Amino acid sequence: MFTFEKLYAEGHEEVVFFSDASCNLKAIIAIHDTTLGPALGGTRMWNYKSMDDAIYDVLRLSKGMTYKAAVSGLNLGGGKAVILGDPTKDKSEALFRSYGRFLESLNGRYITAEDVNIGVEDIEHIFTETSYVTGVAKTHGGSGNPSPYTARGVFRGMEASCSKVFGTRSLKGKVVALQGAGSVGRHLGEILHNNGAKIFFTDINEKNIELFREVAPGAELVGPEDIYDINCDIYAPCALGATVNDNTIDKLKAKIVCGAANNQLAEPRHGDILMEKNILYAPDYLINAGGLMNVSIEFEGWSDTKATRMVDTIYDTTTKIFKLSEENNIPVYKATDLMAEKRIDAIKKIQGRYLGNIGHRFPGRKKR
Ligand code: NAD
Repeated sequence: MFTFEKLYAEGHEEVVFFSDASCNLKAIIAIHDTTLGPALGGTRMWNYKSMDDAIYDVLRLSKGMTYKAAVSGLNLGGGKAVILGDPTKDKSEALFRSYGRFLESLNGRYITAEDVNIGVEDIEHIFTETSYVTGVAKTHGGSGNPSPYTARGVFRGMEASCSKVFGTRSLKGKVVALQGAGSVGRHLGEILHNNGAKIFFTDINEKNIELFREVAPGAELVGPEDIYDINCDIYAPCALGATVNDNTIDKLKAKIVCGAANNQLAEPRHGDILMEKNILYAPDYLINAGGLMNVSIEFEGWSDTKATRMVDTIYDTTTKIFKLSEENNIPVYKATDLMAEKRIDAIKKIQGRYLGNIGHRFPGRKKR
């Protein structure tokens, strides 16, 4: 059940419900924390079983975005939106334009982007009504598909992990078990192939399997359940969340878990178990932040060079988190949260200072 006590406990600032019966719009936007900047996070469309499920999802996802932006060094807060409905039946131009007009009314406290079941064509409708949207098509000055940047960031995370575990960042000759050959998985497969890794992969979609084979010739296909048993150096989950769980964790033979999927650990305790087993876990919400970094620069003028440079910082940040984890003898997932929370707390403290008449928070009156 939705209560203010839950919002207090998790630190959410604002939850907005938008409805428009004319186009069957039912949307919820959650703004978690705007200490570092406007809340940025995608809009997801999903046929939720209940209102409670939708609220649970939007609260959880918006908080995750705060941590992702903070640890990635972005000047953004965390927010997320969900549209309740069946993406195969309920989408319309009117629905997305109505949603865009509501977004405009938030005056930039929340900026949206693509997420599950929301594509660039939906974003274009939203963009007709508001400028508070990213992930816009390149033809309209946007940054286009974020997946190649997400994949590049995951690869940087793999290099940082290899440096830590094997003493060299090179992936040459490393064996990678890649789960999910979709948008990110395919780009990651191509980079791994070009860098001399040996790839085992799995997927349940024939078309994606074929596309993957084109970019990573020589990669070996295995069954969906067999991917956990592969004798490999790196397990790279790029399909679903929660695949490091009670059923899989004892099967894993990898020395590193590093992939694009969100929320890879079924529960935090699985992060502790990985540490006990001496399996290095690359923090998922940092290493998959390449897509967020990419859209974050749309407002200042997107360029491939700028996006690539930002994404490459993931190597150094991942290395710093490994160090923090080791120095404090805490699992990587805890070290990542700690780093994000420290940054937000520090910035919160400096914001209390009055900036005088030149301050943007209180512009003051003009002299007569
Ligand atoms: P996608 O839908 O394009 O690809 C996912 C792939 O996983 C599909 O090919 C699907 O068939 C496959 N799959 C589904 N269930 C499977 C199973 N049981 N076994 C094997 N394969 C299975 O999604 P994507 O954009 O590539 O994203 C992949 C993951 O990365 C998701 O968890 C997503 O949330 C996360 N992520 C993506 C981005 C991005 O830029 N796209 C950014 C951050 C995080």
